[in-house]
Amino acid sequence: MSTHKTEFLLGVLGCPVAHSRSPAMHNAALQAKGIEGFYGRFEVAAESLTEAMRGLRALGIHGVNVTVPHKETVRSLLDEVDAIATRIGAVNTIFRDRDRLVGTNTDARGLVRALERAEVAIEGARVVVIGAGGAARAAAVGLTEAGAATVQIAARRPEQAQALLQDYQALSAIDPTPVSLLDLKSCMAHCDLLVQATSAPLQGPKEAAAFADALPLDHLPQAAVVIDLVYEPLETQVLAAARRLGLKTVDGLGMLLYQGAIAFETWFGGEGAPVDIMRAALQRG
Ligand code: NDP
Repeated sequence: MSTHKTEFLLGVLGCPVAHSRSPAMHNAALQAKGIEGFYGRFEVAAESLTEAMRGLRALGIHGVNVTVPHKETVRSLLDEVDAIATRIGAVNTIFRDRDRLVGTNTDARGLVRALERAEVAIEGARVVVIGAGGAARAAAVGLTEAGAATVQIAARRPEQAQALLQDYQALSAIDPTPVSLLDLKSCMAHCDLLVQATSAPLQGPKEAAAFADALPLDHLPQAAVVIDLVYEPLETQVLAAARRLGLKTVDGLGMLLYQGAIAFETWFGGEGAPVDIMRAALQRG
């Protein structure tokens, strides 16, 4: 009988994970790089996270991505949380440093890299982020650190926006005044980059259309760029409306790809990730 040793065991840890495209992306990357490894799905309910982390240590799992609902709670189960994950308040990638488990967050850098690859200028940009959840937090931190001039947060619940702004008081670009969704017109005219970071596009066609229709995109300057972080569907109603107005648009696939590429590079010592192969795997679904 032949035995087959898989050197590197990786995976995505969350609940649910059945829909995740990360296994397709990372297994394609492992194969392309000739790395003996496998990236699986670890469906772990909230109450089993502590046990799962013990298992991860005991089994010598090389690294994992972390998704809903564990991104915040997993922090207390790690040996270290690095500076960017601490700042964002969430971990989306865990790697080993010898026998220590370290948490980082690749969403912010993934967004920045996706915008750079799409030739969108961040330095000096006046940014409006719609939404105040986890993706908005990553966007606010990433874009501030990449040199945005101002970042305004617009959300339907002022208290959620206020909590985000309070956490990020020290970030130079952050405008400390939350913007209500009903009051977006006033800041649109001075916006170079609009970041759609809510989950509204996922809420069925009617709700998604109502959300897109209510955004005063026609008040944006003609040179403004609109990015939607949602990647399913790729062409959200917000992007379709922006495109109809002749604005440059960027979809959410780039952020998904580059957060994965940066995670891969973190696990394999900075070795360049095969992004074209990873993108093709993501597009196959
Ligand atoms: P959260 O649940 O943390 O936050 C969602 C935010 O959207 C909240 O502020 C919520 O407000 C707001 N929201 C939801 N529905 C509406 C609506 N109809 N009108 C106005 N605001 C609304 O989710 P995440 O921040 O983690 O993720 C948001 C989206 O970003 C996800 O759908 C995901 O697809 C995408 N994403 C993409 C990534 C990528 O790599 N491309 C990475 C991470 C996320 P409230 O609390 O009031 O409901």
